[in-house]
Amino acid sequence: MALTSQPASTGLKKKDVSLYQFFAPGGVLSRTHPAYEFRRGQLQMAQSVEQALEEKRHLIVEAGTGTGKTLAYLVPVIRSGKRVIISTGTKNLQEQLFHKDIPFLEQALFPDSEGRLNVCYMKGRNNYLCRKKLYDLTGQPVLSGLEEIEHYRAIAAWEKTTQTGDRAELAELPEASALWHKIDARSDACIGQKCSAWDKCFITEMHRRAMESDIIIVNHHLFFADLSIKQQAEYAPDAGILPEVGAVIFDEAHELEDVAGSYFGVSVSNGRVEELCRDVEASLQRNHMLSASISGALKSLRERSMFFFALLPQGEGRFSFENRRDFLEENGDEFMALQQSFTRLGSELENLPSKPEEVFNFARRAQELQVQFGFLMESEDPNTVFWIERRRGGRDKFNVYLQATPIDVAPILKTCLFDKLECAVLTSATLAVGGGFEYMRRRLGLEHTRESVLPSHFDYENQALLYVPPDLPDPRTPQFAAKAADRIRRLLEITRGRAFVLFTSYAQMNDVYQRLLGELDFPMLLQGDAPKSALLEEFRLTPNAVLFATSSFWQGVDVQGEQLSCVIIDRLPFAVPSDPVVAARVKSIDAEGGNAFFQYQVPAAVITLKQGFGRLIRSLHDRGLLALLDNRILKKAYGRVFVESLPNYRKTTELAVVEEFFGVV
Ligand code: SF4
Repeated sequence: MALTSQPASTGLKKKDVSLYQFFAPGGVLSRTHPAYEFRRGQLQMAQSVEQALEEKRHLIVEAGTGTGKTLAYLVPVIRSGKRVIISTGTKNLQEQLFHKDIPFLEQALFPDSEGRLNVCYMKGRNNYLCRKKLYDLTGQPVLSGLEEIEHYRAIAAWEKTTQTGDRAELAELPEASALWHKIDARSDACIGQKCSAWDKCFITEMHRRAMESDIIIVNHHLFFADLSIKQQAEYAPDAGILPEVGAVIFDEAHELEDVAGSYFGVSVSNGRVEELCRDVEASLQRNHMLSASISGALKSLRERSMFFFALLPQGEGRFSFENRRDFLEENGDEFMALQQSFTRLGSELENLPSKPEEVFNFARRAQELQVQFGFLMESEDPNTVFWIERRRGGRDKFNVYLQATPIDVAPILKTCLFDKLECAVLTSATLAVGGGFEYMRRRLGLEHTRESVLPSHFDYENQALLYVPPDLPDPRTPQFAAKAADRIRRLLEITRGRAFVLFTSYAQMNDVYQRLLGELDFPMLLQGDAPKSALLEEFRLTPNAVLFATSSFWQGVDVQGEQLSCVIIDRLPFAVPSDPVVAARVKSIDAEGGNAFFQYQVPAAVITLKQGFGRLIRSLHDRGLLALLDNRILKKAYGRVFVESLPNYRKTTELAVVEEFFGVV
C-alpha cells in the first residue's frame, strides 16, 4: 500500500468487477478470502453505499456484527474513484482498516501489481512528535526526574530515524508519559509555516500525504476537531488538515453526537492557563527575554486564575453551572481581574522587541483564552449548556474545567457538515431504535437520507438466550444489590464463569464485586485493577474468568469464542439524568413540546443496551447467555421499545431454561 503520491485509483472500475461479481458466491471475495461466506446483508450494504455515492445522497445503515461492513463500504468507495474519508470511533477499527482490510482488497483486486491505492492513516495531532518542541528542549533544564531524561533520550534517538513521528512506534514510551505531553504536536503551540522545522514537520508531511490519498482514515475526534477549525476559519481554503473529499464514511456512527458536541463546544481549565504560563516562561527563558515585567504578568495571571477557579461552585465530577449570573454578581471583580491579566500578558508579549515567532502564538493563546472565558461566563446562548467538571489530579490538586456544550448539535451538523458534503454514509451495529432511524436523524440533523437496516448474518434465536428475572426488585431500590449479587452468582455457576458483568455505575460494580468476592469459584477481574487492554488480555487467557466492568467495556470490545459465554447487565443503561448535558437536552426537548423520555432518554439507552449485549455474539459459532437484571423491561410500557429494538434472541424468565441452554441438569 503506497503512502505517497500516485494518481487517484480507478483500477477496479476499469476492471469492471460489479459488486455482485465481487461479493456473490463464486466471486472475487469467495476466491480470495479463506473464511468466505455469502452474506446477503453485505452485498445489500455495498449496493446501498454505491447508490449513495452515485446519487450524492446521504445514507444511514445499520449493519449488525458479522455483516462484514468494512468491505461493504470499501469496495464501492474504491469503485467510485472518489477521494473519501473514513472516520471511525475506535483505534481498533482504524487499525483493522489500514492493516487488514485495505491490504486484503489490494491483493484481491489487483493481484498482479502493488500499490494501487493511496491510503493515509491519520491520528490526532497529539500522537505525533513536534520537532520544534523537541529541538527547543535540547539543553534545557526543564526535564523533571530520571524518568523524563530516559524518555527524552529514547525520543531524541527515535526522531532521527522515524518516518512518521507517530508515538505508536515507540512501544517503550508509557501511555502517560509527562514528557510526551510537552513535546507532542498539538495545534495550541504550533506556529505553522513560520516554524523553523516546518519542512521536516510530521504534521506537514501527514497533511501532504492526505492531499495525495484516495482513502483517508481518521477517527471521529480528529474529524470533528478539523471541522470545527474549518468552521471557525469560515472555511478558508488552507484551514484544517483534512482535504476536500467526495464522501465521508462514518463507521461506529452511534458516537457522533457526543464527539461533535465536545468539538463544537468551548472548554477552559486551570491546567490550560498554567500550560500557557509554562510555555511562555520556558520560551522566553530559552531566548533570554524573560523580563521582570513579563514575570510580573505571569505571576499575576497565575494568582488570579487560581483564585478565580477556587471561587467556582464546589463539587466533584460534572455539574451544571446555571447560576452564572449570580456568580458574576458576587465575583465580577475577580473575573474582570482575570480577564485583565490576559490583556496584560498579551500586551507585554506584543511589546517585546524582535521576538521569536512563537511569542505571537502565545499572545494569540492568551487572547483566545480571554475570549473563551468571556463566552463561558457571559454568553446567553440558549442552545448552550454551561457546566463545570472537577477532577482530582493528584494529591490536593484539582483539574477544573469550565465547559459550554451545544444542547442540540443537529442544526450545527446540518449546516457545517451534511449540507456541505455530497455524500455521508453513517453506519454502525447500533443506530436503529424500534427498527427505524428517527432518533438518529433528529439528534444529528440528517434530512433526505436513504436508510437501511440490514438483515443479520447471525442466527440470534439459536445462538443467544436473553434471560430477565421477573422476581428481582427494582434496581433503583436499596434491596437490589444483594439480590442481584445472588442471582449473578447463580448465573455464573450455570455458565461456569466465562462472563462479562457490566454495570451502569462504578458504585454498583464495586458493591456487587465486594459481595461476590470469595463467593465464586472463578477468577474475578475488576475494571481499574489494570489498564483495559491488559484486563482484556487476562480475560482471554484465564479459563472461566469473570470480568466486572462499567461503560468503557460496553463497546469496542471483541472476545470471540467460548471464553465469553455470558454477558450480564445490571440495569437499563439510562444516562444519568443529573448529568448537566443530559439534563439540558431533556429540558430543551420538553420545553419545545416534545417528550424527552421517549424521544431522547429511552432511544439513547436502547442504543447503549444494544452495544452492551453486542459483546456476546461476535461470530457465527458464538453461543451464550444475555442476562438483564432489570425487569422494568418487562413491566414498564417503555420496555417494549427495548425488546423491539434488540435482535430476536430467544427469551426467557426461567432459570431452568438457562440451565437447559447450558446443558446443566
Ligand atoms: S510546524 Fe508546528 S507541529 Fe510542526 S514542528 Fe513546527 S511547531 Fe511543531
